[in-house]
Amino acid sequence: MDERKQELLRNLPKIDEMMLRLERTDRLAGFSRELVKEACRSVVEELRGRILADTAKTKELRLPTKEAAAERAAAIVEGFGAYRLRRVINATGVILHTNLGRAPLCREALERVVEVSRGYSNLEYDLEQGERGLRYDHIRRLLCALTGAEDALVVNNNAAAVLLVLNSLAEGREAIVSRGELVEIGGEFRIPDVMAKSGARLKEVGTTNRTRLADYERAITPETGLILKVHTSNFRVVGFTEEADLASLVELGKRRGLTVMDDLGSGCFVELDRYGLEREPTVRDCVAAGVDVVTFSGDKLLGGPQAGIILGRRNVLERIRNNPLNRALRIDKLTLAALEATLVKYLRPEEALSDIRVLRALTEPLEGVRKRARRLAALVRRDLPEGMSVSLVDGMSMAGGGSLPMREIPTVLVGVRTARLSSAALEERLRRGALPVIVRVADDMVLIDLRTIDPEEVPLIRTALKAAAEGQAR
Ligand SMILES: *Cc1c(COP(=O)(O)O)cnc(C)c1O
Repeated sequence: MDERKQELLRNLPKIDEMMLRLERTDRLAGFSRELVKEACRSVVEELRGRILADTAKTKELRLPTKEAAAERAAAIVEGFGAYRLRRVINATGVILHTNLGRAPLCREALERVVEVSRGYSNLEYDLEQGERGLRYDHIRRLLCALTGAEDALVVNNNAAAVLLVLNSLAEGREAIVSRGELVEIGGEFRIPDVMAKSGARLKEVGTTNRTRLADYERAITPETGLILKVHTSNFRVVGFTEEADLASLVELGKRRGLTVMDDLGSGCFVELDRYGLEREPTVRDCVAAGVDVVTFSGDKLLGGPQAGIILGRRNVLERIRNNPLNRALRIDKLTLAALEATLVKYLRPEEALSDIRVLRALTEPLEGVRKRARRLAALVRRDLPEGMSVSLVDGMSMAGGGSLPMREIPTVLVGVRTARLSSAALEERLRRGALPVIVRVADDMVLIDLRTIDPEEVPLIRTALKAAAEGQAR
């Protein structure tokens, strides 16, 4: 090792001295000593690593002053206390954006979370009988009333619901699925993989584009435990296609004494075709078709918290509820409180459409979106940062998140250009700002889609744009 390196190593800051220095400033008062020490150690280790790394740069390497080294450690400790999971503004126009937390919760859902979790609750306590109760009972009647199902159960998410149902009803046996429905939802959820983990054996029938009822029927053997239908929620096979509809699968199941399950994926309660959208089977349609068990997400088209909802016949649900795996996948009280409030909204469908944000975004007439776009453009123009220009652009929003495949919804965007920054640089500053705004970039413009933006977010976007243009990115 050369002498320069050895000298640098000898002069590395001492952890004890850094600690003393920090204690004297009071800056980290109240933080645990262990945490501060660990931060000091990581600063020293990082410097040591840089010295030892055999690069030409070693020659130019200078050690920080003692103050600067302590300052770095303090910044690390304070950094732990800065929230990393944060609110962002979704200006992408993708209504159910899995990376951006899918469905925003309605006001009542948030209030119920606070109310129920601030103190103790009757989560598993029957207030009338004064004895142990079931957490699922709080929303069972509501779910049944809204969907026509006999019984209901909720778990952590729909992936868990599918796993639990398959394991409860088809472990060690065959589950028949159409080749056209062996979907990958994203985020590592593939039907064949979940099936394998559940212990059910996949029996594929038909082809990618065509599967007939006779294909299912031929596949039935004494080994068959279940017929599974999966809603292809993020793609569509178009052209020469055929699938067996749910009603005929239900009829087949009845005739052959087999349970029929439908993984609906999104689980919509509202007839979206009334609002100019593609027809999506509602949960009620699916239950009415006579299926034995249906699963869907709480945070897709339902617009509530992450959850997996399982509906179906009482005797089938009883087997699922009593599976020990259910305990491992169980829903927590915060989710339950938010889900209950979201479901209550659906008792008055008009209220659901106006208060549940994903439904509002999906169904809002274009004129409302245009109005917000005009308002944002006007706000920005009022004191336009130097070199910035804004314009209204017609375009398309996306339902997203494995809900309505191929569904594009007309929208109005605000396009922003600046003379000083490329659109990529502006996008980055907006993303890294104090309140991150996530945008699209196209045609060398930053595009802000007003369909996914709430009225109260409009002034916040203006503030973010101003800060970004003036170079106040963090
Ligand atoms: C989204 C989806 C899932 C997974 O649901 P999560 O709630 O995200 O776990 C399963 N199946 C289908 C068909 C889906 O669309």
